[in-house]
Amino acid sequence: MGFQSKIVPETILDVREVTVDFNGFKALEDMNLRLERGELRVLIGPNGAGKTTLLDVITGKVRVRSGRVIFQPSDRPTEDITWYPEEKIARMGVGRKFQTPNVFKSLTVLENLKLALKGPRNIWASLATSLSQDGRTRLDEILETIGLAEKAHLPAGILAHGEKQWLELGMVMAQDPELLLIDEPVAGMSPRESERTGELLLNLARRHTLLVIDHDMNFVRQIAMRVTVMHEGKFLCQGTMQEVQSDPRVIEVYLGQHREVAHN
Ligand code: ADP
Ligand code: MG
Repeated sequence: MGFQSKIVPETILDVREVTVDFNGFKALEDMNLRLERGELRVLIGPNGAGKTTLLDVITGKVRVRSGRVIFQPSDRPTEDITWYPEEKIARMGVGRKFQTPNVFKSLTVLENLKLALKGPRNIWASLATSLSQDGRTRLDEILETIGLAEKAHLPAGILAHGEKQWLELGMVMAQDPELLLIDEPVAGMSPRESERTGELLLNLARRHTLLVIDHDMNFVRQIAMRVTVMHEGKFLCQGTMQEVQSDPRVIEVYLGQHREVAHN
């Protein structure tokens, strides 16, 4: 770790000049992204812009052709995580919530959270052992935050789609990552559920740093402090929702596909 991996203290993540090449196709090209600790950044861009690939790079799922990813945990030295294995990156405090909910349907809401809190190593042992008072308090807080306290003892399988998404957000929260990557959290949600999700994420942003991908412009407007726009694997521009919405380059790339940014 030479001087090049040093970053300013308030930065938590620094993606530098990252290129990802899928058999000659550049899904990312010299992509840069810098996140400050505690911010909630929204990443938008037309389909195929490379948004999900960028999350894959940060979590170690996809490997770069060139460039690097620097992570600065709050209580440890800065590290170049570009070539770290996925599990190590996760253990360092980078959590991810995928687009489709991935909960254990036959376990209760509380059991799912309990598993997340204890880690996936041994499911049955985790369920059999009781939680410490701290752990129990934390899970109660999470249940409140995700609005599922009253459903704590119901099987996760009977939850509505939106509720499953919240449960999964709760599971990511239980792991207490410093940086949370969230891909399209309101896909398939009703406007009401989507608004509730926005509140939830805003709530999380105080204690965590969030990078959220979404297409739903009402949702983005609700939560975004700063928006980064990608196009064809590259950084296009960055600013407040209002700034990027009125940026002619953004309007142009979206007009090619759909009119969300210009007209919603
Ligand atoms: P977004 O999330 O912005 O819609 P993606 O990151 O999913 O975009 O995809 C960016 C581009 O990379 C797309 O053209 C997609 O088809 C391509 N791509 C993504 N993953 C792979 C892969 N594993 N192999 C080949 N091409 C891929
Ligand atoms: Mg995607």
